[in-house]
Amino acid sequence: MKLSHRITHLTGGGSDGWELFIKSRRMIAEGVDVTELTIGEHDTRTDPRILDAMNASARGGHTGYAMVPGTDALRDAVAARVAERTGVPTTRANVLITPGGQAGLFASHAATCDAGDTALYLDPYYATYPGTIRGVGAMARAVQTRAEDAFQPRKDDLEKAAPGARSLLINTPNNPTGIVYSRATLDGIAEVCRENDLWLISDEVYDTQVWEGTHLSPRALPDMAERTLVVGSMSKSFAMTGSRCGWIVGPEQAIAHLINLATHTTYGVPGFIQDAALWALRQGAAFEAEIAAPFRRRRELAMHILSGQQAVGPVPSQGAMYLMLDIRGTGMSGEAFANALLDRHHIAVMPGESFGQAAAGHVRVAMTIEDAAFAEALRTLCGFAAELQGAPVVP
Ligand code: PMP
Repeated sequence: MKLSHRITHLTGGGSDGWELFIKSRRMIAEGVDVTELTIGEHDTRTDPRILDAMNASARGGHTGYAMVPGTDALRDAVAARVAERTGVPTTRANVLITPGGQAGLFASHAATCDAGDTALYLDPYYATYPGTIRGVGAMARAVQTRAEDAFQPRKDDLEKAAPGARSLLINTPNNPTGIVYSRATLDGIAEVCRENDLWLISDEVYDTQVWEGTHLSPRALPDMAERTLVVGSMSKSFAMTGSRCGWIVGPEQAIAHLINLATHTTYGVPGFIQDAALWALRQGAAFEAEIAAPFRRRRELAMHILSGQQAVGPVPSQGAMYLMLDIRGTGMSGEAFANALLDRHHIAVMPGESFGQAAAGHVRVAMTIEDAAFAEALRTLCGFAAELQGAPVVP
């Protein structure tokens, strides 16, 4: 039977970028001891206190259909968090609870783009972005950022791409680059959106993982609240990846339609998951800092290791749980380097090419294993790059 073009062309054909990850998982299944620095997931599990809240809620009977937009209490808590951190007045009517950030990204594009509309996103990008856009029937169009700008998008590149487009998807702190967009970058983005009447879809799922500078939500910029949908999530900030709980914050009218979409798609998020999320959010910023602490520590370790060598060029590491490393000095592509590192040293990192063209010649290292093993793997990676260049090996 014929399936829809929308579904069969979701990934755009060709490589989906996960080959190296799959190869490393295959090696592990065959008994090889691979150090995996690939996927963006904490090495700690969800805090037992969050699980206690989840259990108490489920045992207390919150296992039926929950309110589709989210519980009032959780929507209020998300609104309060956003209002407090951005200064933008935000109420429950501005919030839809979603089954994770990914569902929020899909719904946001469904809400803003009709079939055939152009939706912009920035390269390098989180792997699902183009497929998410195609999934709602829109045309995914990448705007390149450049390694020489540390992957901060240029306003004039956006200006060239914007005419006729409906939306622009951005992500700061950024996966895969670890860059936090500067105020100047965000001002430029906001201006392009206002001038070209674009929706801005702002993926802020890493907002608690900022190591340098500050996270600025573009919804807080002049006249942007009316055209911005912010996607947030409990996954990264509370190590709740498996719980599937996130949100969209946006204009009341857009949220009203998004609630309608949720009624016809997800039918909401389980009540006991929402109650656990509420418990976690109520612990405040100190709890979030505790969950982000291992990445902050490993990023410090990485800065120290990288400062003592020249073989690998670090992209400024400002946020999120990743390091982007420039390995162009080896003369290899990110893909060839990552494959050679896996074959030779059993260390798995993601090729930059998995995230688009702009990060070619780079690799992404997830800071998601215990500190000593992480430091050793990074030293080995640098040593390998130095060896390939005939440069002095890191001590
Ligand atoms: N956006 C970005 C940039 C991500 O890295 C991820 C997860 N890796 C997501 C969204 C989706 O996260 P979730 O659906 O778990 O909230």
